[in-house]
Amino acid sequence: TPVIGVLALQGDVREHLVALAAADAVARPVRRPEELAEVDGLVLPGGESTTISKLAVLFGVMEPLRARVRGGMPVYGTCAGMIMLADKILDPRSGQETIGGIDMIVRRNAFGRQNESFEAAVDVRGVEGDPVEGVFIRAPWVESVGAETEVLAEHGGHIVAVRQGNALATSFHPELTGDHRVHSLFVDMVRASRTAESL
Ligand code: GLN
Repeated sequence: TPVIGVLALQGDVREHLVALAAADAVARPVRRPEELAEVDGLVLPGGESTTISKLAVLFGVMEPLRARVRGGMPVYGTCAGMIMLADKILDPRSGQETIGGIDMIVRRNAFGRQNESFEAAVDVRGVEGDPVEGVFIRAPWVESVGAETEVLAEHGGHIVAVRQGNALATSFHPELTGDHRVHSLFVDMVRASRTAESL
C-alpha cells in the first residue's frame, strides 16, 4: 500500500487525508523534512498559497520539497497546491515562492469576484464515468502550458487540470466532494512510480 503525505502547514489537510484513505492509500500529514523523506507521494492541499509558501520556508521544507519533486516523487496539488506546483505565477505576492514542477503559468484568484466560489461539472481526462463535480473556491486557472504539460480539463475556456510526468494539479477541490476518483488516479500514479523504482 502506498504511503502518501499531505503537506500540513495550512489548508484543507484533513479532507485530503480522508480522501486518500478512501482511495486505499496510507495517508499521513507531513511538516518536516524527515516526514517528507518517508512518503511515496505527496498532496499539496487547498488553502492560501502565500501562507503555505512562507511556512514551507520557515519549516525548512521548501528546498527538500523542490528536491523530491525534481527527483520524480508523485505530487498532486489542489487550488493553492496547484499554485505551489507552477513553475511561474503571474501575480505573486511579495515573498511568495513556489515549489515548481509543472511547466505552466498560473493566475491566482483568476475566476474573479463575481464568481469567487462555484461548482461545475468538469470532464477530467483519465477519470472514467460521469464528470467530476468541480468545487472552485477563489480558484486559480492555468494561463498557459509548456510542450510537456498535458491538459486534463478545461472550464469556461480555461485550463483547470494538468499533468506533467508525475505531477498532477487541479484548480478545484475533489477532496470536498466525497468522490474519490481523482485521488484514485493519483494513488495509481504513486503505485506506478513505486513499481518503476523497484524494477
Ligand atoms: N486563492 C488561494 C490562493 O491564492 C487559493 C484558494 C484555494 O486553495 N481554495 O492561494
